[in-house]
Amino acid sequence: IRRIYPFSRGNSDGNKAMKELLGGKGANLCEMARCGLNVPPGFTITTEVCEEFHRCGGQLPDELLEDVRKAVAGVEAEMGLKFGDANAPLLFSVRSGAAVSMPGMMDTVLNLGLNDQVVEGFAAKYGARFAMDCYRRLLQMFGDVVLGIPHEAFEAKLTAIKAAKGLQFDVQMDADDLRSLVGLYKQVYVDHGQELPQDPWQQMYMGINAVFKSWNIPRAIKYREINKITGLKGTAVNVQTMVYGNMGDTSGTGVCFTRNPANGERELFGEFLINAQGEDVVAGIRTPMPIKHMADVMPPIYAELVANTTMLEKHMKDMQDVEFTVQEGKLFMLQCRNGKRTGTAALRIALELEAEGLISKDEAVCMVEPRHLDQLLHPQFEDEKKYAKDVITRGLAASPGAAVGRLVFSAEEAEEWAARGERVVLCRHETSPEDVGGMHAAQGILTCRGGMTSHAAVVARGWGKPCVCGCEALHIDLKAKTLVYEANGQEVILNEGDWVSLNGTTGEVIVGQQPLRKPEVQGGNLGKLMSWVDKARRLRVLTNADTPEDALVARTNGAQGIGLCRTEHMFFATHERIAAVRRMIAEEELDSSHKMEALDELKRYQREDFEGIFKAMDGLPVTIRLLDPPLHEFLPQEGPAMEALCRQLAEELGASLERVEGRLNGLREVNPMMGLRGCRLGIVHPEITEMQATAIFEAAAAVIKEGGHVHPHIMVPLVATTDEMDHQLAIIHAAAKAVAAASGVQVPYKVGTMIEVPRAALQAGHLAERAEFFSFGTNDLTQMTFGISRDDAQAKFLSHYTRSGILQTDPFDTLDVIGVGEMVKIAVERGRATKPNLELGICGEHGGDPASISFFNKVGLDYVSCSPLRVPIARLAAAQAAI
Ligand code: PEP
Ligand code: MG
Repeated sequence: IRRIYPFSRGNSDGNKAMKELLGGKGANLCEMARCGLNVPPGFTITTEVCEEFHRCGGQLPDELLEDVRKAVAGVEAEMGLKFGDANAPLLFSVRSGAAVSMPGMMDTVLNLGLNDQVVEGFAAKYGARFAMDCYRRLLQMFGDVVLGIPHEAFEAKLTAIKAAKGLQFDVQMDADDLRSLVGLYKQVYVDHGQELPQDPWQQMYMGINAVFKSWNIPRAIKYREINKITGLKGTAVNVQTMVYGNMGDTSGTGVCFTRNPANGERELFGEFLINAQGEDVVAGIRTPMPIKHMADVMPPIYAELVANTTMLEKHMKDMQDVEFTVQEGKLFMLQCRNGKRTGTAALRIALELEAEGLISKDEAVCMVEPRHLDQLLHPQFEDEKKYAKDVITRGLAASPGAAVGRLVFSAEEAEEWAARGERVVLCRHETSPEDVGGMHAAQGILTCRGGMTSHAAVVARGWGKPCVCGCEALHIDLKAKTLVYEANGQEVILNEGDWVSLNGTTGEVIVGQQPLRKPEVQGGNLGKLMSWVDKARRLRVLTNADTPEDALVARTNGAQGIGLCRTEHMFFATHERIAAVRRMIAEEELDSSHKMEALDELKRYQREDFEGIFKAMDGLPVTIRLLDPPLHEFLPQEGPAMEALCRQLAEELGASLERVEGRLNGLREVNPMMGLRGCRLGIVHPEITEMQATAIFEAAAAVIKEGGHVHPHIMVPLVATTDEMDHQLAIIHAAAKAVAAASGVQVPYKVGTMIEVPRAALQAGHLAERAEFFSFGTNDLTQMTFGISRDDAQAKFLSHYTRSGILQTDPFDTLDVIGVGEMVKIAVERGRATKPNLELGICGEHGGDPASISFFNKVGLDYVSCSPLRVPIARLAAAQAAI
């Protein structure tokens, strides 16, 4: 096997496609060398050697040592210098570089090759100060990284010398100071029973060994776990000639982007520092100059840099992030990679690269990430770096965007404050349907409990309102109207009315009024990209919408119909509606006039809403789900509010208080999520299904009469058995007939089922005999397959699971492909075996999650349905899944 790929200007067998073998950094170094760019010569040891190293119990294979010697000889010839020779010293850096970037996780050693003799030769050539500075850096890095001597032991000596001489910065130390420091560092080695090998080869081998070893140190393993980086062989090692930017005024170091990473403008963008090394830039001791000023101070070098980066971008076909060093008037290219960018920049760059003929339309579509689009569609903070010190906690990033407002702790207050023009953030333990008014009035929503499919999260995403959920570190005192948290061991109290900011994209909760920037939807650019997106995708994208307004927003965003209309949300819309629901629930007698009136009132509301939605979605399918939640959700919490409600209902219905109380309290269940809900409601209370079905058909008939095109798809929730389905089908078909007879309009409709319980997935073959479509309710399907409560698992253990890596992601956020996904696959196969053209969709929250969408595309669903504001993101993700 081949273990080493050398690179030098104009030469390398490695290339940019070999990231898996050479790591990202190594592959691009080889590529730059091939392109004739001046990279400091060196070589990359493959990731396979890392694998071999760990397989052999942490030993460098003997053959490797020989290969390294040969490769070094090549560099020596190229440079006219010699490794370990005091008269013509050649120094190397040894760096890690995996296929996927893992910033700062693994180790690096610089200036390998210096020893007590070589440093004197180095001093004669480059001056004593410079040589001693390099030597003390080697001693420190080698000691720390290779020998495991605590970093602090070196820092202590450095601090001591500076203090003794009254110096503030490292750069102020002179040659003698540094020489003393070298002595002190050597003493640190002795104190730890170690010494710096004087044999440069020994240094080199030990350095390589340390980098390979660092692949499996705990923080690197943790990083891969958190970022779901799997299937890699290991890290590559890049051994490269040292070049220095701190050799006087004809030297320097810099970083630049080939386009502006903030707005995408085509210009060289970056910073440069004369007479400095990379770490000086990072340390922030001196302020770098804008890259363009290089044109004034080093015109020929600047011209060369521009030529290099222009060529590189054309060659790599993407915006590049480049590091370089100038050593005594000579430009060296140190690194290049595809640059990170904002949403605005991503869009502009993708379109312009296509227009410049560098990439195809499909490639442009893949270049814009879903999170870029997300950024474009939601308000953002002006500068996320600026508020770092004000972050008080981080919860779940439940609904993206930035929100700024004053703290309130109840929905009523949110509405009151908003009514007098205040911007508020509503903070609750968790939200319930009763809070929707206040949630709507608030700029953003903050909860201490609840996960990615908690009420707050689902509702907020539906509206595109920023929401941070499950902030366990925050404690609400409802009586005192305060929010309490701990900072540096001290309790901090925020009061009602205090300003807070929420970043729903990152989950950060920030004190104070952080400045906002408007969403940057550039109609033209975005529209153009989205037209390419729509050509590329196979999945249709529908929306979850419960009101005509949401339906319109979704349609504007490109939704191709409604995949889920949660009818219970319509019942929560106003106080009159909730009151009617409560009367319907409280009255047992089916034929009582109160019950009939309540049902009739609800039917009127529903019919009105359905008409609005049908019109907004004219010509497109509208999937309406029958009532789903446990009925107690329509009641206030136990306590004074509940007592008052019972008294009021007893009066309205002319019933005894005991009877009403008995009836309503009887609705409470130990396991409501597995209780009387979904189709079970429509079976125990067929009058509800009949009322809803009639409202749907009457609304459809009315709109058809006005010339509209209506396609209601009626969806039965939480079905587990075929008999349940048959029961509901009979009621729905009867209602359709009755409305057709009364109105003279035959409404074309379909009836389907949700697949939300594992039994339904397993019985999909039989359900498909009855259902005309399946819609996967992956929120419940996850809850029921995993046996994890979607309501309170977050605070109890789920956050612990994701933090500690027992689960890599929250399964309510990204579909658990191998478990819950298997259920989906089974249902798809069995359903289609019965009915090959069975229509299949998904309407759980995963319908807006790019990783999950990729899976839904693969298993062959026909559509995904997501909240109105996520529609563009789902379209993009569907296109990328198909390309
Ligand atoms: C689901 O369970 O995935 C679903 C869409 O229904 P709900 O979230 O309303 O239970
Ligand atoms: Mg459900």
